[in-house]
Amino acid sequence: MEIKVQLTDHPKAKTPDSELGFGRVFTDHMFTMDWDKENGWHNAQIVPFGNISLSPACNVFHYSQETFEGLKAYRTADGHIQLFRPEENFKRLNNSNARLAMPTLDVGFCVEALKKLIEIDQAWVPYSEGHSLYIRPFCIGTEPNLGAHNTTTVKFLIILSPVGAYYASGLNPVSIYVEPRYVRAVRGGTGFAKTGGNYAASMLAQEEADAQGFSQVLWLDGVEQKYIEEVGAMNVFFVIGGKIMTPSITHGSILPGITRKSVIELLRHWGYEVEETRITVDDLMEAYKEGKFTEMFGTGTAAVISPVGLLRYKDYDMKLSDGKIGELSQKLYDELTGIQWGKRPDPFGWIVPVC
Ligand SMILES: *Cc1c(COP(=O)(O)O)cnc(C)c1O
Repeated sequence: MEIKVQLTDHPKAKTPDSELGFGRVFTDHMFTMDWDKENGWHNAQIVPFGNISLSPACNVFHYSQETFEGLKAYRTADGHIQLFRPEENFKRLNNSNARLAMPTLDVGFCVEALKKLIEIDQAWVPYSEGHSLYIRPFCIGTEPNLGAHNTTTVKFLIILSPVGAYYASGLNPVSIYVEPRYVRAVRGGTGFAKTGGNYAASMLAQEEADAQGFSQVLWLDGVEQKYIEEVGAMNVFFVIGGKIMTPSITHGSILPGITRKSVIELLRHWGYEVEETRITVDDLMEAYKEGKFTEMFGTGTAAVISPVGLLRYKDYDMKLSDGKIGELSQKLYDELTGIQWGKRPDPFGWIVPVC
C-alpha cells in the first residue's frame, strides 16, 4: 500500500532536551490509516501532527475498544537512528487487536511506515545521553454507535515523542507495594493485551500507592490473590537462592513484555538458568526471612531495567540489595542499553536501522 505524505508548513520549535520529560512533546508528523469492512486497511498517510476529529458517539469513548504499543528509536554515537525489535511490537499489537475484536495489521508494512515517519521527523530524535524517541502506535474503534457491539471502523495511528533519560542520575532503585485489594487482570480477561482498559482499572491502586510514597504497585493474580503477576507497566524478575525467576505468562493475565523476553534470552545466552514459574507472595516473604531473596528488578521499554530496593506486602517490608543496584540488574541494564544505543555488538539481530 502506498503511503501519502503531506508535510507540515509550520514546523514546531524543538524543546531543549533538558526539558523533555516523558510523553508531553510531540514531533511534526504522525501516521494514520483507516479500516472498514469493505475496504480493509486503506488511506495510509503521514500528515502534520494535530488533533483528530471524531464523533462523540465513537465506540472507543464508551466501550474502550483500544490497543496500543510502546517502543523507542535510539540515536547512535555516529548520528544514525535505530529501532529495537520493532516487529515484536507490531506482532503484539496484532495479538491485542485480536483479543479486542479489531482487525490485525501487516507487521512488515507497519515497520516500513514507522521507518518512513521517523525518517521524516529524524531531527526530533534527541542527541543527548540516555534520551530517545518514544513511539506510540495505537488502534481505536471509531464507529459512531452507542450499541455495545463490535466496531465496524478502526483507526490506526503512530505518534512520536522525544523523551528524556529515564534515570537522570544513574540507575535508581524504586519502592514497590504489593496491592492487597484490587486486581488488574484475570484468566480469560485482557491482561495479556496492551489495552487502555487495563490501565483505567489500575489508576486507583496507583494513586493509593503514590500517596504512600511508592512508585508502583505489584499485582497479584485475580483469583487467589497470592501469585505474583507484574508491576504497573513492567514485568518482574527475582533472584532467590541464586536462581533467577519470573512469573510465567501462560495464564494470559500478564503482559508479555519484549524487554522481559530479551532479558530471558540474554540471561540464557550468558549461561544463567531462568525459571518461568508461579511465585506466591508468601514464597517471597519466606525466602526473604531465610536471607535467600536477594534481588528484584522490573523490565519494560521505558526504564529498561528498574531495580527494586524495597518491596512492601501489607505491613511487611523486604529491603533488597541494601537499597542499591543489584549486580544482575546493572549487568542487564548495561548490556541492553548498550545494544539499543549501538555501543555494544548485537549478536541477536535485534537492531533495525532507520537512517
Ligand atoms: C508495556 C507493558 C509492559 C512492558 O512491556 P515491554 O514490551 O517490555 O515494554 C509490562 N506490563 C504492562 C502492563 C505493559 O503495558
